[in-house]
Amino acid sequence: MGKYTRGEFLGLSAALAGAFSLGRWPGGKTVASAQQAPASPVLSGEPDLVVVNARVLTSEPALPRAEAFAVKNGRFVAVGSSSDVRNLASARTQVIDAQRMTVVPGFIDAHNHPSGVEELYGVNTNLRTVREIQAAIKKKADATPAGFWVNGFMFDDTKLDRPLTRKDLDEATTDHPVSVAHRGGHTNFYNSKAFELAGITKDTPDPSDGRFFRENGELNGRVAENARDVVNRVGKRESFTSEQRRDRARNGMRHMSQLFNACGLTSVHNAGTGPQHIQAYEDCRKNGELTHRAYMMIRSAEAFKGLKAANISTGFGDEWVRVGGVKFVADGSASERTMRMSTPYVGTNDYGILTMTQEQLYEAIDDAHSHQWQVGVHANGDVTIDMVLKAYERALQKWPDANRRHRIEHCTLINADLVRRMKANGVIPTPFWTYVYYHGEKWKEYGDEKVSRMFAHRTFLDAGIPVPGASDYTPGPFEPLMAIQSMVTRTDYKGRVWGPNQKVTVDEALKIATINGAYASSEEHLKGSITSGKLADFVVLEQDPHDVSPDAIMNIKVNRTVIGGKTVYPKSQS
Ligand SMILES: [Zn+2]
Repeated sequence: MGKYTRGEFLGLSAALAGAFSLGRWPGGKTVASAQQAPASPVLSGEPDLVVVNARVLTSEPALPRAEAFAVKNGRFVAVGSSSDVRNLASARTQVIDAQRMTVVPGFIDAHNHPSGVEELYGVNTNLRTVREIQAAIKKKADATPAGFWVNGFMFDDTKLDRPLTRKDLDEATTDHPVSVAHRGGHTNFYNSKAFELAGITKDTPDPSDGRFFRENGELNGRVAENARDVVNRVGKRESFTSEQRRDRARNGMRHMSQLFNACGLTSVHNAGTGPQHIQAYEDCRKNGELTHRAYMMIRSAEAFKGLKAANISTGFGDEWVRVGGVKFVADGSASERTMRMSTPYVGTNDYGILTMTQEQLYEAIDDAHSHQWQVGVHANGDVTIDMVLKAYERALQKWPDANRRHRIEHCTLINADLVRRMKANGVIPTPFWTYVYYHGEKWKEYGDEKVSRMFAHRTFLDAGIPVPGASDYTPGPFEPLMAIQSMVTRTDYKGRVWGPNQKVTVDEALKIATINGAYASSEEHLKGSITSGKLADFVVLEQDPHDVSPDAIMNIKVNRTVIGGKTVYPKSQS
């Protein structure tokens, strides 16, 4: 950028802001995005904050790189050269000299399950030996009255010294029902006491939407999908007063905000929101503890019914806490190898599990779509993605809406026909973004041909689909720099490459992690780039991801995370 007078520079900022296309509020009203955003991008009075001497990667096509920017009332108000931006500062302006560090827009995770309650109060079974898991369960059982559930979470079956079994859990306790939940959320391991209470024996048939896994005709403890419902209904559970529950939920959400900020996340789509989360967001917010922006995809049937009855739909809320889409789950999991595919898992006759029928999808999607809701259906396998698309195509035909942006959550295994139909219907996929790196040992069960069509960020970009990225935490780690490395290298933690045809560039990965995430919640007029008029959410990185070896992107340190102009990480800087 050349030299401008202060007036010319401010005019340029405003012109850049004005260059945005019309944005559509999710509620249905069309507004001019940046110009009519709540805070005017045109600066009057000095900025609250300026960042100078930075390498700013803006995610804004009109000005992809800059040196500096100014912030006022929580929004970017000018972006340009260090000298120009410095000129805007007064004695009251906070000046951050970035010392040539890299600044990017705040990262957006388009599918995550933040709660934090298990992280603070639960039994973490993300351990590497069966013996350690037994010890963790036994410790909790010793402090729990007989007959009450003992629950482990974050279990990862493929990172263990040997397979976990029902008998291993019996060795930890026979007085309590035990459940060890896979971090992927679709399978649990139970002990004999749990099966006994539920009346499940080796002769119990599998339901159509779940499975009791067996070995040599005996239950081996693993149970998938909705077959778990009957087990989860029995036994006694630790009970809490509503006050205690509310406190735990608030503490958990505050904890998640801090974890998110520490790795540069400023916005997170909560892909399974129920009443307790909504309360937790509100409680944290009132107490100044909510330091990430939440897009709530409603999963609870009760909450969805209540919101519909109140005539509330997608888009309601503000830039901190917003009602997003409604969420349904139509098949199994990628990381737990239960997703429904047209061809089986390697070396088996197992095609995976569907958890909704085509009829159920038609009904759910017609209802949500006709009530002005965005819909996000969890669909990993190609069979399931096809079923979901059929239902979207049908609903859009009945009630056309060119900008509803229905989503396919995960959308893992794709083919050319599915991608073409997604593009034609404006459907957004939210593929896993840390899975290639973190879960590499699982992909051999799919085989190379399938993996070349899985987590297909490259294919979606090439088709002109503004694909975001998603951790699905707890199933995947949420660290965005690990995600960028994973998408750029398609290489796992052991150095094995999976589906190299799906590699994206660093610039593409940054767009996936920022502006495309904003698009998936119809908030691209508000965030996702460092652009005058948008929310001042940004991250200072100690190195430029373009400059380090692609295998070292995840080691780049987050120097500072700022949301709405306020430093939220590290805490001492606020
Ligand atoms: Zn999920």
